[in-house]
Amino acid sequence: MNGGDRIRLRWIPGHQGVKGNEEVDVEAKKAAEGETSSGGELPKILQKNLPTNKAAEKQRFNKEVKEVRAERWKRYAEGRFISKTAPELPSKKHCVKLGELSRKGASIWTQLKTGHVGLNKHLHRIKVTDSPKCTSCKTHDESVEHYLLHCKAYKRERIAMKRRIKGGTKDIGRLLGNQRNANAVIDYVVATGRLKWIKNKGGEKEERRRTGERGRRGQGRSGESGG
Ligand SMILES: [Zn+2]
Repeated sequence: MNGGDRIRLRWIPGHQGVKGNEEVDVEAKKAAEGETSSGGELPKILQKNLPTNKAAEKQRFNKEVKEVRAERWKRYAEGRFISKTAPELPSKKHCVKLGELSRKGASIWTQLKTGHVGLNKHLHRIKVTDSPKCTSCKTHDESVEHYLLHCKAYKRERIAMKRRIKGGTKDIGRLLGNQRNANAVIDYVVATGRLKWIKNKGGEKEERRRTGERGRRGQGRSGESGG
């Protein structure tokens, strides 16, 4: 369009059956299906690249990246404990909230959510301990779920945690899937004293030394499957 062009808009009583309109429809359909005229056939004004809206392009690109990341996350989480505690891709808000926790707290919270934590079920899977059984009650495998929700040894600590959590604590996915529960859960862990050794960076090494065994990593997928 040039500066001096004049456009007149008119309402028409429906356009089906109008000959010119039907022809335009046919050509538009061809274009949508990928059939385009070669550059030379086009009017001069259309031979240049069409202008793009920068903001719209950026939005489209970001949406695409988000979709790819969400898809990858879904594939990664499938069959792992984390599919219960974080079925959706952790959002930006989640990362900001994680930053609000203490360093130690964020570490505990993340370990519990992933199931990669110094509890016997995981330690046994990575060949650090002989048995996956809970050393406190000796009756069940020490999974994250058992430790946080069921082990009789931590009844008192659990009552204190439950008081701070809305909506009950019967479901491990709901408990660890809600960032608002983080501080209550972290305080529970600290109160039980069960994960003392993660205080320092070399915690896992220290645990291996303590048990007198050598751990081996990378045995299949995450072994934490609840229960
Ligand atoms: Zn137990």
